[in-house]
Amino acid sequence: MHIYCLDLEGILLPEMWIEVAERFKLKSLRLTTRDIPDYDKLMRYRLGILRREKIKLVGIQGVIRRVKPLPGAAAFLKRLRIEGPAIILSDTFYEFAMPVMKQLDYPTLFCNSLKTDKAGFISGYTLRQKDGKRKAVKALQSIGFEVRAVGDSYNDLSMLKAADRGVLFNPPESILKTNRSLPVAYDYKKLMKLFLAD
Ligand SMILES: [Mg+2]
Repeated sequence: MHIYCLDLEGILLPEMWIEVAERFKLKSLRLTTRDIPDYDKLMRYRLGILRREKIKLVGIQGVIRRVKPLPGAAAFLKRLRIEGPAIILSDTFYEFAMPVMKQLDYPTLFCNSLKTDKAGFISGYTLRQKDGKRKAVKALQSIGFEVRAVGDSYNDLSMLKAADRGVLFNPPESILKTNRSLPVAYDYKKLMKLFLAD
């Protein structure tokens, strides 16, 4: 029995932080998990910028609400869910992602949550667990699933390596170069093929 685990940003949605960076014209917010392997370092850097620029959670949600899935993403996911259960494993936050999940027909999403202070600024974040993507894959395998996973960033690599089949989707050159053993897809047709192949 197969189950499909998908990273969210870069696979089904554009990078939400890049949308935020563009809306607020802040180049410094353009760095993502595709650039910086240490997630905690990246998040502390981002939250520092938001505080300095006086951007509240509600301001970010206003930007993200207008984000559209990548072209073809909704149809791909709909089709995939006919083949078997699919779970989104993301390092984003429910407070960010939920406003756009409607456009993907509310797939199951495992991610993290944000802390806000009384004024509405993001004061921190809670990781449900460390290395949660890999642990989710391991847990699904422990209850009898064969896991096929897709991701594009540093924070996906442990998940892709733990999965029975891990696929890179549109990875940056740096990740591609150091992970030659993983199959690569650059469009949903190829990804579907790699997911469904025996
Ligand atoms: Mg990603």
